[in-house]
Amino acid sequence: MKLVTYNDQRLGLLVGDKVIDIKRALQRHDALPEGATMIELIENFPLIKAQLERLEAGAGDAVEITSISLLPPIMNPSKVICTVDNYPSHAAEDATEIFPKPIFFLKPANALIGSGGTVVLPKEARRVDHELELAVVIGKKCRGVPAREALSYVFGYTIFLDMSARDFRTIPYSWFSMKGWDTFGPIGPAIVTSDEVGSPSALEMKLWVNGQLRMHGNTRDMIFDVAELIEAVSEVTTLLPGDVIATGTVEGVTPVFEGDVIIAEIQKLGKLEVSVVRSSHVDIWHTKDFPEHYAAYRERDTADKGPDVMAPKKMEDL
Ligand code: MN
Repeated sequence: MKLVTYNDQRLGLLVGDKVIDIKRALQRHDALPEGATMIELIENFPLIKAQLERLEAGAGDAVEITSISLLPPIMNPSKVICTVDNYPSHAAEDATEIFPKPIFFLKPANALIGSGGTVVLPKEARRVDHELELAVVIGKKCRGVPAREALSYVFGYTIFLDMSARDFRTIPYSWFSMKGWDTFGPIGPAIVTSDEVGSPSALEMKLWVNGQLRMHGNTRDMIFDVAELIEAVSEVTTLLPGDVIATGTVEGVTPVFEGDVIIAEIQKLGKLEVSVVRSSHVDIWHTKDFPEHYAAYRERDTADKGPDVMAPKKMEDL
């Protein structure tokens, strides 16, 4: 089952290229009150699953997906937890070591944007990369979950782009200013329920910028699999329905520029498409207060990436 949030935060069931308005179809179902969010749908899913399956089979009163505006399938989760360097090939290209346990950081939940949305590059950022990640959406409240039970707490999966302003990182103190910008969390197009996905450990992943293939990987290459990530996260924090865990990027991160179109695809999860613009707002504190970091990372992160990934005519503008 594929679930979307669209237009004025309506909940939809995606069937092929058509979307069924769930709340309208179920009328005022007790388990899904007026104004219910995707988080409430997830919490009450066992009570409405059979009806949703009937809706899915019957096609119902559907509209074309091209006639609606997709939002992040999950709006305002209590947290978006991102995994650092969970593929050996990306750890190598990022020149970072592999740790014995997974490392995480938090991304603001309101950085999420849906498919069809727009990533806004900070005006002063010299290098903003796409990262392509499988995202896990939690289905049930849990804490201290052992890996062998962890997948039973998963509601579904979706595609996530962990946008990263490389030259705004202030290692080792915080990644907030590299990862936390508004719009730096494209997610979607839909949440695909775990029963439809099956194992999350063999999903092909691809990403194109302006039609050029930039990333091609498979979730089987994760250093820590989904179950191990849930175990590690839930050791620290209680996971709530709707929480998102991004599982780390495959290799092939490259910078994006104003006017670019990014399309990401993960097997069984569909395609996520966003466009890129640059903000006109000057983010002064970075250039003013972190001149050494700024220069060092700019040099490191724009060097030796080859002509394919750095578009010279656009770099001249920087
Ligand atoms: Mn990432």
